[in-house]
Amino acid sequence: MGKQKNKNRYLFSIRNRIFIFAVLVTAIPSLSMGLLLQNMLQTTLEEKVKQKFADSAQIMEREISLWLKKRVYDLTVFSNASIVSETVTAYLKTPEKKADHSKKRLQHIKILETYLSTLQHQFKNYVRIFVLSRTGSVIAASESGGRARPFPFPNDCIEQISDKQWFKGNAYIDSRDKSPLILIGVPFFLDQLYEYETLLAIEVRLTGLLPLLDPAKFRDSGDWTYESLVDIKTGRQFLYGRGAKKVLNEISLAPSDHSQKLREYVNGRGERLMGLVVPFRELEWGLFITENYEKAFSGLINARHRNIIILCCFTVLMGIVAYLLTRQIMVPLSALTKGAERVAEGDLDVRLPVYRNDEIGFATTVFNEMVAKLKLSQTKLEQLATIDPLTGLNNRKRVMSILRDHYKYYRRYKTGFSVLMIDVDHFKDVNDTYGHQAGDTVLKQVAEIFNENLRNVDSAGRYGGEEFLVILAESGMDESIQAAERIRKAVASHKFIHEDQEIQVHICVGIGRIQKQDGDEQKVVKRADMALYRAKNEGRNRVVYQADDDQQRDAPEAGKYLSP
Ligand code: GH3
Ligand code: MG
Ligand code: MG
Repeated sequence: MGKQKNKNRYLFSIRNRIFIFAVLVTAIPSLSMGLLLQNMLQTTLEEKVKQKFADSAQIMEREISLWLKKRVYDLTVFSNASIVSETVTAYLKTPEKKADHSKKRLQHIKILETYLSTLQHQFKNYVRIFVLSRTGSVIAASESGGRARPFPFPNDCIEQISDKQWFKGNAYIDSRDKSPLILIGVPFFLDQLYEYETLLAIEVRLTGLLPLLDPAKFRDSGDWTYESLVDIKTGRQFLYGRGAKKVLNEISLAPSDHSQKLREYVNGRGERLMGLVVPFRELEWGLFITENYEKAFSGLINARHRNIIILCCFTVLMGIVAYLLTRQIMVPLSALTKGAERVAEGDLDVRLPVYRNDEIGFATTVFNEMVAKLKLSQTKLEQLATIDPLTGLNNRKRVMSILRDHYKYYRRYKTGFSVLMIDVDHFKDVNDTYGHQAGDTVLKQVAEIFNENLRNVDSAGRYGGEEFLVILAESGMDESIQAAERIRKAVASHKFIHEDQEIQVHICVGIGRIQKQDGDEQKVVKRADMALYRAKNEGRNRVVYQADDDQQRDAPEAGKYLSP
């Protein structure tokens, strides 16, 4: 239970609270500032990367457009060959109905196919060369198997031709070697009205584009990698960059993903990539570009590391400052607490050093003053409890306590002591004659005479009304008799004055000395009392030394009588 309380006190100590406060005050603003800056930096960097990608895509698009135009140019050249135009014209003019016409048409087709095959042998990139009808059905193909393999014919072929004089289909995959293909075609304009019935088309391998898309050509544009060409309409990727397939198979590029947003990818080698599909401006394709995350965002990563280091440094620094601050408070505070604990245990001699001139220094000074005042009050109380108010001598309780101490000391060190029992003779008469006030004056002055005639080591106390007890430390018989006589004579010769009246008094002194057979301090008092009794009996104003104990009290030789 107590342990639990201590533990809680420790947990919620001022030191811990200041420490936690300092750390939070440092960490929260630094962290939020760091996050804010990092966010801004990230946005800026992303914009930069996107701009770089867009610039590269623009260059790429130019290259691709140029490549397509070259193909269109080839087609235009092919279509302008007289053998082609003449054969196609002859073919179109031959009606289909009669059997010999059909034979003629087959001959025309044969001529065309021979020519197209010759062309195809010269241009290896062109997988097949076709003469097609407006609707895409094959009239003649460059090789014998050319008709067998289907190809996607674009639905918008006619619009494309009216728009730009040529057309291209969607990219598709060659089922034999999995390479991407595309159909590009131009119309045969056989009359001045630009009407056309047939098309000349080539099936071309898109891999021919790859050398154009090599990022090595754009080294100064950055460390990006070309991943694939994307059909913006369908979201399909169709021409993968070298080594890119693994990455791209893992992601699906739905058309909605083509929003201009950088996305994070992981490639087959576990590399983190930032990627973006940049749509071309004129071609309805887009370029999927990626860049190594760490290279693209090295600034961001460095800033993040720097922020973490700065945050840690600040937090540690503030932790140290908080520690030193709390130490400045806690060290004097714990000194104050320990001081207060000592006072609570009754030690009023505690004094704490005041090192600083601040609130804690002030509290320490106030604490010291408070303890000093307590000490003073305690001393006063002690005095009230031990001093006789009339004479200023020890009261009976106190003098008996001193006597007990002497007895104990004697028992230990064998240092003998004597006790004087003193009584004022016929004191009642003084009261009766001069009044009670005069009696008090006499008692006070008697006490002064004691003080004047005793050593520092001796003690005097008021034993009863006009009876006193004096302890003479380390004194033998002779010294105690001398001291008693000195006091008796001093009193007897003293002129007590009260309100201009001269009063004469004398005293009796009984001396008792401690004996080794005494079992307690009362024995020696009794002995002195007996001596006093004798002194009274012997006629007063005298000193009697009681040499031995009670049994011998009536034997005259046992006491030593000293007359004035
Ligand atoms: P003896 O010589 O036998 O000692 O006679 P005594 O008169 O001195 O003794 P007694 O015991 O008969 O009287 C003591 C008187 O002391 C009685 C009492 O009124 C008086 N007395 C006691 N205390 C005080 C005090 O404080 N002041 C005054 N003025 N008188 C006191
Ligand atoms: Mg008396
Ligand atoms: Mg008396």
